[in-house]
Amino acid sequence: MNDKIWLSSPHMGGGEQKYVQEAFDTNWVAPLGPNVNGFEKDLENYVGSDSKVACLSSGTSALHLALILAGVTHNDTVICQSFTFSASANPITYQGATPVFIDSEKDTWNMCPSHLEEAIKKSIEKKQKPKAIIVVHLYGMPAKMDEIVAISKKYDITLIEDAAEALGSTYKGQKCGTFGDFGILSFNGNKIITTSGGGALVCKNEEDKQKAIFLATQARDNAPHYQHSHIGYNYRMSNILAGIGRGQMEVLDKHIGFRRGMHQFYKKLFFKVHGVTVFDEPNNNYFSNHWLSCILIDEQITGFTRENLRLILEKDNIESRPLWKPMHLQPIFENYDFYGTIVSESLFENGLCLPSGSNLSQNDRQRIEVSINKLL
Ligand SMILES: *Cc1c(COP(=O)(O)O)cnc(C)c1O
Repeated sequence: MNDKIWLSSPHMGGGEQKYVQEAFDTNWVAPLGPNVNGFEKDLENYVGSDSKVACLSSGTSALHLALILAGVTHNDTVICQSFTFSASANPITYQGATPVFIDSEKDTWNMCPSHLEEAIKKSIEKKQKPKAIIVVHLYGMPAKMDEIVAISKKYDITLIEDAAEALGSTYKGQKCGTFGDFGILSFNGNKIITTSGGGALVCKNEEDKQKAIFLATQARDNAPHYQHSHIGYNYRMSNILAGIGRGQMEVLDKHIGFRRGMHQFYKKLFFKVHGVTVFDEPNNNYFSNHWLSCILIDEQITGFTRENLRLILEKDNIESRPLWKPMHLQPIFENYDFYGTIVSESLFENGLCLPSGSNLSQNDRQRIEVSINKLL
């Protein structure tokens, strides 16, 4: 049996161990230290727009803190893109708030601006103005940020960008994660760079960053003893893991180049295949890191489904996966309001993510091509 080809696996650049060793040598084995500060500086320089970054234990904890800083509490409603990973929506419920889900549009597969505005108007009519909007740049594809930022400003609602999959992606030259009041990043094992587990909150100013760090370190008041006037969390990033992150930052742009290369590979592979579309940027305003390469299959034309293709690949020990199942169709969320039609639902039914790692070899590509050609 050939080795397994993964959808997206960790890809170390080589510089990581130097920073980890430094942490051991100086005994900074704690959820703070020079690597944490260094990784934050690296991220701030990388995303730009004068952002301030707080490194945390996960992307999920970053979203949770963003909601707390937005003032989301019991009985509030929060608008969330339906087509996403459950981690985008779960923190809404941690706050005792109620999610309202929005369908995707077809160009970027992300939050549809017109359904977003419809949901806001309806909520305001019901005297339940949403407290925050969570927009996602899914698979690395930037959402329609001009429209979404304008709506959040028009109605004065906090905008949170889930850029967990989109580090390095840009919209009109600006990095994803820097458009909203808050942005979140993830460094989980399958993301474009990884610290094995970790995340970050991107803030507009130093004050918000310091508030996030305060909450992430058990909310200790300024006193010699342990004094608390807020509920705190243990959400800070470890100095060991931040060392991995600093090493990963050295190869981030190279890895984006590889991922975009995989996207080109699939475009070439499916170029002549009628009924299979490779997910692509709508125009030059959008630059995707192509974290995962995705295809849509029109069964009427091809005569096969995404499940047929998935099983062929699985037989050859190649991992692929259906697109995210929308939140409004999930047992945990199906009773909440949803604004939209069947865009995200049909993406889920007809779409497949293909191996996209930055560490795939020429031989891996060949195996993928041979396997897919069995069906074509
Ligand atoms: C990975 C991911 C998250 C969560 O990040 P963790 O670091 O795993 O907690 C949130 N949203 C999206 C869209 C993700 O892909």
